[in-house]
Formats: sequence, C-alpha cells, structure tokens
Amino acid sequence: MKKTYCGQLNLKNVGQKVDLYGWISNKRKFKNQTFVDLRDSTGICQLIFINISDPSLTKESCIWVKGQVNKRLEANKELASGEIEVLVEDYKILNTAKQIPFEINKYDSANEDLRLEYRFLDLRNEKMLDRLRLRHKLFLNLRNFFDKEGFVEFETPILSKSTPEGARDYLVPTRRKGKFFALPQSPQLYKQLLMASGVEKYFQIARVFRDEDLRKDRQPEFVQLDVEMSFATMEDVFELCEKMWKTTLEPLGFKVKTPFPHMKYYDALAYYGTDKPDTRFEYLISDISTNVKSNYKYAKAIFFDKNVDEHISAINEIFSKNAGEKLEIANVNSHVFQELKNIKELAKIENPTIFISYGNNEENTLKSLGAIRTHLNSIFQLADPNKMNFLWIVDWPMFEWNEMEKKYDAAHHPFTQFEESTLKYLKTGELEKVRAKSYDNVLNGFELASGSIRIYDPKVQEMMFDVLKISKAEQKSKFGFFLKAFDYGLPPHCGIGFGLERLLMILTNSMSIRDVIAFPKNAKGIDLMSQAPSEITEDQLNEYGLKLQK
Ligand code: ASP
Repeated sequence: MKKTYCGQLNLKNVGQKVDLYGWISNKRKFKNQTFVDLRDSTGICQLIFINISDPSLTKESCIWVKGQVNKRLEANKELASGEIEVLVEDYKILNTAKQIPFEINKYDSANEDLRLEYRFLDLRNEKMLDRLRLRHKLFLNLRNFFDKEGFVEFETPILSKSTPEGARDYLVPTRRKGKFFALPQSPQLYKQLLMASGVEKYFQIARVFRDEDLRKDRQPEFVQLDVEMSFATMEDVFELCEKMWKTTLEPLGFKVKTPFPHMKYYDALAYYGTDKPDTRFEYLISDISTNVKSNYKYAKAIFFDKNVDEHISAINEIFSKNAGEKLEIANVNSHVFQELKNIKELAKIENPTIFISYGNNEENTLKSLGAIRTHLNSIFQLADPNKMNFLWIVDWPMFEWNEMEKKYDAAHHPFTQFEESTLKYLKTGELEKVRAKSYDNVLNGFELASGSIRIYDPKVQEMMFDVLKISKAEQKSKFGFFLKAFDYGLPPHCGIGFGLERLLMILTNSMSIRDVIAFPKNAKGIDLMSQAPSEITEDQLNEYGLKLQK
C-alpha cells in the first residue's frame, strides 16, 4: 500500500484504503467510538476507532493506522482534510507518549522555559513549524536570487580570529596551551579578503556569534546574510538589496514597496529619538527648547492624543532606563504648561497630553523620549501590523565616545570609509563631526542590517587605527593577516550584513527571535534542552592548560 499523508486526504480519496503514520494530537470518546486527530508533517485528519478502547493511545504517541476513507457527515471547515475521516481497521502503537509536559496546541500559555526544555515537542505545533518552513523558503529564495545576480556563496571559517563588531567574543581553547580561537562576530575580514581575491560578488548565509546582553531580538549565535561587492557604490548596494527583498519576499506573500526611503541618522534621532525609527506611526518629536523656560539646555516633546493615566509609572521607568534626565507628562491645559509659548499651535492635535523630556545631553534627551514613543506603540498598537516600512538610515557619525574607556570607538567598524567632506574634523579634533560612508537597513523599528563602503587605501586604514588608538603592535597581532591585502591590489569594495532571524521575527509577528530558531538559547543564553553551556572535567581542563578561578 502506498504511504498517504493526513493533510492531503480529501473527498477524492473516499472509499480508498489508506496507510497513515503520525502522532495523536487529540482524542475524544463518544459511546463506543474514539475520535483521534492524527497529525503528521502535512497536517491533521480525523480517525475513528470503533469498539477499541486502548489506554496506550495517549496524546502525542506515535502510531501507524490502516483504514478506509469515508465522507464525514458534518465537515470541519478548519481542516484541509475536514470533509473526510478514516475508519480504523488496524493500528499499531509505535511509541507511547508519557503525560506531556504542556499542551502542544496551547503553547502560548505554556512556560517558555518548559517549551525550550522539550523543544522537540514544542516544534510539533504547526505554528512553530510553519515559521521554520518560512525560514527555509526565505533562505532558498535568497540563494536563488544571489545566484541569478552572479554572486557566489563562500563559507568562511568558524574557528577563527576576533572580528571587531563591538561585542564580546566567544572563545575556544585549544590543546596548544594558551592559544584560543575566537568564533566570528561576522565574516567581515574574510569577505574583504575575498574581494582582494577578485571574487567581486560574494554572499553567505553565515552563522555568527556575539557574547552580548540578550534581548528579544538577540541570540548568542545567529544567522547573517552577508554580502560584499567590488567596484560598487552605495546606490548599487541599495538597489541590490531592494530588489532582493522584493524578489524573495513577495512570493512568500509580503508586499515590499521600493525604492526604500532614505533618512539621515541625525533626522532619525531628532524626530524619532532612535537610529531605527518605526515610521508606520506618527507622534514625532518636536524641539521646544525655545518655547519653555527650564534649567536644562534642551526640551523635546511628543504630543499624544490618548489617555495614558494608567501607564505613567511604566513610562517613567522606561524614561529613566534610557538615561532621560527630567520628564514631564501633563495635559496641554494643565497649569504645568501655562508658561509654554505657542504650544497649542505646535501640537497640531486637539487637547493633547504632552511628554516633555528635559536634559543637557541632547542625544539622551531624544533617545529617552524615543523609547517612550516605542512603548506607546506597544500599549496602543499605533502601527499597522500589515505594513512593512523599510528604510535606509544614512549619513552616520564615524565615531562613538566610549565613556568607560575614555576613547573613541568606530560607530560601525574600523574598515568603514570616511565621508571626505568631513575629514577636516579629524585635524580639528572634533571627532563627533566626522561622518562615515555607512548605512543601516531598518524595518518597522528594527535594525535589519548594517553596511559600509570600505577603506582600501592603506594610509587611510592606518589613520583610522591611529584615531581609535589601536597601537601598531595590536594592529599587527589582530589584523596583520588582513592588512597585508592592502599592499597587493585591494580593490574598492563595499557590503552589508543582515540579521535574517530578526527579519523572520517581524514577518511572523513573533514575540521573540527564539520563535524562528529551531533550537535557541533562552533569554539567559542557556540551551535548556541540552543544558549547555556545561562544566568540563578536570582532565579536559588540564588538556587545555586551563585552571578555573575559585
Ligand atoms: N560586518 C558588518 C556587521 O556585522 C556588516 C558589514 O559591514 O557588512 O554589522
């Protein structure tokens, strides 16, 4: 008998004998009949057992059945196979399931840690599997797209040297005592070396590792769509990426409007209080520094037309978590605002509630208000969930002040080309005014990608390292292998790297990036299923020449 699948049976099969393998998704008894929803990789179909009451037919047991397809008296419109049922003639329990730790179909109410511990059960849920199937289709479409565009996929090493993306490295000890590999934070140096090799058009769906504080859109290991091109401009990168999302996402049912708008970094900050603005909803920031009297240099405001009374304490907390200095929330008619000049005209909405962020550090004044704007969206669902607002953020600062180490860091990475017109600020020491030829791709308030035009002149690269106070010795030990290419015909090149799981999280409306990864780590970076990371033995420590601190 030919193997058949639950989700594929329909009226055409009525009268046939079929053979099915699957799991018991649900079970109901009615007099001498037992109804079972049998689930396999294609979907669900209803089985009827008559005069068979087998206690081993437990939920989530794996079984084989043989039976006859009959038309149902009453169709179930929710199921593809809802017009038929299978009358069981023979069956075998292949593996009995114990009492399951959570209801697979009600996983939303189950504890996430428990779901992660039993991830193989969690993935039996159709909704979970559908997300991973979408992931597969997207990756397939991407590979086909790049192949058609003349790009070649190269794999770069996992056991490698540190790449400067700004996070902590994951290190791998070796038996060559005192020598460590670093897992790549990105294939950055390798892809630039491939340009030196004359590859010209490179891409990779690459696994990368960053040991940083986890958030709902971060995992210690994730997948990056990494792209690099020689002899190309920023516009070439934008055009390629816009075509890429249109070509790969539209067949999957997502509408992509191109070209993507461009927004300057400082405008994003000024109007949205973030470098990854969600442009699906309004309530932009206004500068009211000259309209109010206060002891602070800056006053920035959002005018809002909904009642926030219940949310005041959460809003205050978010404000201070984001380094806000002083926040005032009140109705426009409140005595608090009696001294404000022209505020009603500025507001453009009737009778608004005003949020004013006061501060002496402009960036923090804006960012803390931007965080409130994002929070207001999560409370009031201001953004249309069906919209996909892709956006390029351009004209970035080159450097970022590192308060802890009292020095400047590269805002993107140290291989990014300077915006020539701002090079003069290197001489005057006004490093915050130096701009970079870098760009971010943003979607609905999430940073999807970063990229840049790269330095290919060894003198410029040296100048960059000098500004970043990376000593000659450090340059040699960290990047020596890479810097050699600057002396052997390195072509002009540029590229970008996308976080694919972040995109999948947005596309599937998932609560976290964990939902689009088959076996993710939990919010604390632990794989609850295998309990990794775990301790190693004294012998292993000795082999690596390592000693644990007490
Ligand atoms: N390596 C960069 C990153 O991971 C992307 C790029 O510049 O291509 O952010």
